[in-house]
Amino acid sequence: AFAELTPTAFLSRAARVFAGRIAVVDGDRQFTYAEFADRVERLRGGLARSGVRPGDRVAVLCSNSHLMLELHTAVPAAGAVLVPLNTRQSVAELAYIVEHSGATLMIATAELAVTAGEVAADVGIESIVEGPAYENLIGEDVPVAPSIDERGLLAINYTSGTTGRPKGVMYHHRGAYLQALAMAYHARLEPGSRYLWTLPMFHCCGWSFTWAVAAAGGTNVCLRAIDPLEIWHLLHTEGITHFSAAPTVLTMLAESSAATGLSKRVSVQTGGAPPSPTLLERMAGLGFDVEHLYGMTETFGPVIVNQWQPDWNALDPVEIAKLKARQGIGNISATAARVVDASGNDIPGDASTIGELVVRGNNVMLGYYRDRAATVASTTVDGWLRTGDLAVMHPDGYVEIADRAKDVIISGGENIASVEVERVLDSHPDVVQSALIGRPDEKWGEVPVAYVELRADAQPDVDGLRAHVRKVLAGYKVPREVVFTDLPKTATGKIRKDRLRASSDGG
Ligand code: ATP
Ligand code: MG
Repeated sequence: AFAELTPTAFLSRAARVFAGRIAVVDGDRQFTYAEFADRVERLRGGLARSGVRPGDRVAVLCSNSHLMLELHTAVPAAGAVLVPLNTRQSVAELAYIVEHSGATLMIATAELAVTAGEVAADVGIESIVEGPAYENLIGEDVPVAPSIDERGLLAINYTSGTTGRPKGVMYHHRGAYLQALAMAYHARLEPGSRYLWTLPMFHCCGWSFTWAVAAAGGTNVCLRAIDPLEIWHLLHTEGITHFSAAPTVLTMLAESSAATGLSKRVSVQTGGAPPSPTLLERMAGLGFDVEHLYGMTETFGPVIVNQWQPDWNALDPVEIAKLKARQGIGNISATAARVVDASGNDIPGDASTIGELVVRGNNVMLGYYRDRAATVASTTVDGWLRTGDLAVMHPDGYVEIADRAKDVIISGGENIASVEVERVLDSHPDVVQSALIGRPDEKWGEVPVAYVELRADAQPDVDGLRAHVRKVLAGYKVPREVVFTDLPKTATGKIRKDRLRASSDGG
């Protein structure tokens, strides 16, 4: 018989087959899978008792904690819709999202109690905070679980807001289930895996991993705030086998004074923004096996990942990192990817012609919540999701991400992919991270301007950096101007080029 697919099934299964294994470590608290699944069932009961009905939206403002993991399963199992909030946003930004989602209840971890209170008061809804109030919700009575339609709404996850107002991406149960399995497989998670939560659980990729770890019977090791020293400490003391983080966090780890050799190689998944090849090589040298992923909120996280090739077994890790620096080989299971021209026709896989990446598969969103216009604009006439990212397709099916369509700089009629220039800047020994934007220019339309974050001990040297780029790239790609600064970033560590553009237009 046909079964509806839902990611809440991973925990019910784990409660039986991995009953005595540790599911979650969160500071002093830890739970086996049996204990954890029992809490989640009683939390589901508590949600129903406090008036949450199927279809209702529940906003969660939680750091990476056992609460967040519990809510990930309990809310959808109650037939309700999870709205994870970005913990680094301001009260005004959060209120916009809570209001937009129509959430009727908010649940928060202790660190975020004040913010949660203000947001809830602003929007006029109830908020429940970690501690006695939350534990009370975990009651004794467990009503019969509602039946789940696999195409029903599971969550509304808001995009990072890198290019404008965050958009509410609608997830369905089936897609989340299949995406979690794909991630468990690609990250090679297994019952002995210990997954450190450096990635925000509210982020789309966090979604896949919360369920992937339960699917594999691994252990979630929570980390409530990002601190490179603490991460290094946990890597050594907690026997961490896997973690995922944005390139910015990897840069912090590589730069950290605690960066020392690991006794066992640790698997790391990175993406969300282009990691520089230099960074991937440094990480490999420190003992990490870094997998490079490309994905977006609209696809429940990763759609393109590195595929391990058998002949890599003979290679040194740094050599492998160099190969992987090229963007992913192939697509994850069940996702189809194409690169198309402006009229939607396939571009031949010749490794040189740039087009827009479009994808189709189970892990594509239902659409943007309460935004028909944006939903229509994100879909091609034949039903593929337009990623808004430019890519080239290689003959072996390998997809290389060139840039966001919005970040391409057009100078004197020539296209400059910002990522290409940033890679060269980032390979300079003085540079931590860089961002290239186009500044409006009367003669050229736009000229490239680089914003550069330097190593603490480095001296600003504009001519040196420009010469470094000129050695590798055409003259029109060389930054006209170089600004040394700290780069503004989103909560997931992406560089806010919109802010840089605004400041460059203003000055
Ligand atoms: P918004 O849509 O609100 O402007 P956002 O696009 O940054 O924000 P996310 O869904 O978190 O929100 O990010 C997806 C985007 O991140 C992709 O469309 C792509 O531009 C970029 N990205 C993700 N992974 C990679 C990668 N490995 N290399 C290059 N870019 C990446
Ligand atoms: Mg986007």
